[in-house]
Amino acid sequence: MYRPDTYDIHNSTLDSFAALFNSCESFPELTIRPIEQETGGNDGYLYLNNVRLFGFDWERRDNYFHNGVFPFPTLGQYERKIQKNNIELSIQCDSQGEVLVAGWHDDFRREEPVTRQIATSDPDSPQSNAVLRYTEHFHVYHYTTEMAQLKRDLLTALYNNFLDHTSFDSTADSGLLTEFARKFGNCPRCHSEMILRRNRNSGEWFLGCTGFPDCHTSISLR
Ligand SMILES: [Zn+2]
Repeated sequence: MYRPDTYDIHNSTLDSFAALFNSCESFPELTIRPIEQETGGNDGYLYLNNVRLFGFDWERRDNYFHNGVFPFPTLGQYERKIQKNNIELSIQCDSQGEVLVAGWHDDFRREEPVTRQIATSDPDSPQSNAVLRYTEHFHVYHYTTEMAQLKRDLLTALYNNFLDHTSFDSTADSGLLTEFARKFGNCPRCHSEMILRRNRNSGEWFLGCTGFPDCHTSISLR
């Protein structure tokens, strides 16, 4: 995508954000990797222990935060790229690099896009149909002091989504599911490791003790 003037700033602010985000430790390890050129509406991807999750959108916005306060009740994503269903997470910074706002879409998939007329900066077509998606799942973070909190909040959202079984029901995500399963710790009865298993009939995930068949501990993830 052609980005006059702002492209260098866009990339450099994204790179410094990624460096700061990745320097905060977390378990499981959550990292972001920017991509060179915006692809399919994504500026980069989130990874959990090297398992790729989904894309995110990065924007640097002028005159968007007022004295460090984000003044809107919802975070809207109005880029037409939402039509491609690519963006699950939007992260935006102010021009001073002091404040971030991060919004994720109802734990990453469920909020429905809507079509609206919006004003554009193109003088030839000042109004344009655009697909928008609004979320109340956003927070404002101080750029330098609250990066670890952003990471914790994202992990919580991912974890809740995992418990809802909505996005991670494919075998490709089994590595990711295992990482979340590790958060539960070992079997409370025999202290063996708990591993993720799936009920063959219902398709539901549960944690089973590796001490099976001597130990029958299982933990429902409902
Ligand atoms: Zn056990």
